[in-house]
Amino acid sequence: MENIRRTVKRVWGYDALLPWQEEAIGAVLAGRDSIVILPTGGGKSLCYQAPAAAMGKLAVVVSPLIALMKDQVDGLTAAGVPAAFLNSSLTTDERRQVEAGVARGRYHLLYVAPERLVLPPCLGLLRRAGVAFFAIDEAHCISQWGHDFRPEYRQLKAVREAFPDVAIHAFTATATPRVRADIATELALREPEVLVGSFDRPNLVYRVRRRTDRLRQVTEALERHRGAAGIVYCIRRAEVDQLAEALRGRGYRAVAYHAGLADAQRRRAQDDFITERADVIVATVAFGMGIDRSDVRYVIHAGMPKSIEHYQQEAGRAGRDGLTSECLLLYSGGDFGLWRSILMAEGLPAPGALPKLEQMYNYCQGAVCRHRFLVDYFGQAYRADRCGACDVCLGEIAVEDGSATLALQILACVTEMGERFGADYVTDVLRGAETAKIAARRHNRLDTYGVLRQHPKATVRNWIEQLEGDGCLIREEGEYPTLNVTVRGRRALRGEDAAPLLRTVARPARVAPSRPTRQAAPPGLGRTSDEELFETLRALRRTMADERGIPPYLIFSDASLREMARERPTTEDGFLQIKGVGLRKLQELGPRFLACLREHGLSGE
Ligand code: ADP
Ligand code: ZN
Repeated sequence: MENIRRTVKRVWGYDALLPWQEEAIGAVLAGRDSIVILPTGGGKSLCYQAPAAAMGKLAVVVSPLIALMKDQVDGLTAAGVPAAFLNSSLTTDERRQVEAGVARGRYHLLYVAPERLVLPPCLGLLRRAGVAFFAIDEAHCISQWGHDFRPEYRQLKAVREAFPDVAIHAFTATATPRVRADIATELALREPEVLVGSFDRPNLVYRVRRRTDRLRQVTEALERHRGAAGIVYCIRRAEVDQLAEALRGRGYRAVAYHAGLADAQRRRAQDDFITERADVIVATVAFGMGIDRSDVRYVIHAGMPKSIEHYQQEAGRAGRDGLTSECLLLYSGGDFGLWRSILMAEGLPAPGALPKLEQMYNYCQGAVCRHRFLVDYFGQAYRADRCGACDVCLGEIAVEDGSATLALQILACVTEMGERFGADYVTDVLRGAETAKIAARRHNRLDTYGVLRQHPKATVRNWIEQLEGDGCLIREEGEYPTLNVTVRGRRALRGEDAAPLLRTVARPARVAPSRPTRQAAPPGLGRTSDEELFETLRALRRTMADERGIPPYLIFSDASLREMARERPTTEDGFLQIKGVGLRKLQELGPRFLACLREHGLSGE
């Protein structure tokens, strides 16, 4: 393990391992099969990259994503670890070169697409070259119960047959026991060590808002992150196109991405985003698996996803570098209906699909700490009382006192009156208005007459709208629009479903989560602020990435740049102290970054 720590410091520039990395690396060193479940950003790659680099033997990594392979290999190469990949994007010549390299034992890491790995010539080549261990990335792709089943992963059983003595390590962010069991069975793992990390992402600030004006709400959030990278997810392609267009019209560097675009267009959008020519990518869920940009500062859902699993996966693309990032979800009751009809249109919805949709909706409507809800959902206990990083704990959402009772009183009133009246009339009855109509219909004798007397009319109207939005009430258009109680509303009335909570109007987001406020320069000294220096370093990173033809985040992460802007090292030793600076990067990138730091970073003190 000492050797590992030295390697991690020398190559990656990290002083310590993240939680569970040591255990996961331990399993690799012990040659014992393992399943490692860590959330996105949990640092899974290092668990197999570090042992491979430290042992100096060949590790084979299976990954479903061609684009990601190239990035990983570029990143490893930049850090000085010999690595290569084999997939369908290579020309015959390139492939032969890599194969010759493998035969000569040149690489410590080889990324291979699953369908290629299981071909007899590839297995033969690897057997001759010798493999230290296999790492199966995104291992949930093997399970039909995961959210991203890939049939080609099923063929991976051939790996165990061809290499009975070589350990297999599976990595995923999907935690359900069913998926875990599938991974063990399908890969024929032998008593695997199962390591499950914490699913909380403390650096993510979660917010949920009812969608009232999509464009305005999205731009408000974007304003909190000017110039930073982010993803905006929409449910439908048409929304993607419209929103991207509207954002461009307002001066944002936004691109659109969805499965309806031509391959070339999609590639360009992804490329623009990765190389920082675009800040915002507006996309359907088709986007994301293939990108590894770690400095995504916000993920906005302009519509509700269809399950918490999807939400966790998509929102999880924010803040992989560990810096504070925002996850904003905009939803409406209509999103629930839309998903339900999409699921029903597929014929028989997949098992569990509807309950998952309901859970997602509960998340949106609920007023419990978002971190707690998400961690609970994945079967873990959340210890803190307040997370300090969600709309509920930050006090941006206030639930009415006794709100469950209020909601039931409104639903009961609608039922009592036979569901034949509109929202205004219902409001009058609830507030005990003394009108001729109410008296004539004897509605002043109802149990619910006047129960909300002490609340203003506008408030009661707003609660009724919330219940409509929450799918407990529905407005039926006829000669006069009438309010009706839905199936969900009835279940709540019978106590079979949690009663909906009513909120007071949401207060605006108070904290700007990701952009530290600009420090004013002390007069006369001309000290660049940390923020300005960070932007200067970012520009240098972009230039150097362009020169090398690799994405900027492979040069240094935002976390490293922030530390440089704060610590302002001017010597090689000082530079090496920055997290993310290894020896190779010191040699290759250090001189220009140090020159920049010396020029702009003078503290003036
Ligand atoms: P995952 O694959 O689990 O989503 P990654 O392997 O992409 O996560 O790592 C997430 C981020 O954490 C990356 O930016 C990586 O550089 C960083 N990281 C990984 N290990 C460490 C460590 N020991 N110390 C500091 N940062 C780390
Ligand atoms: Zn919270």
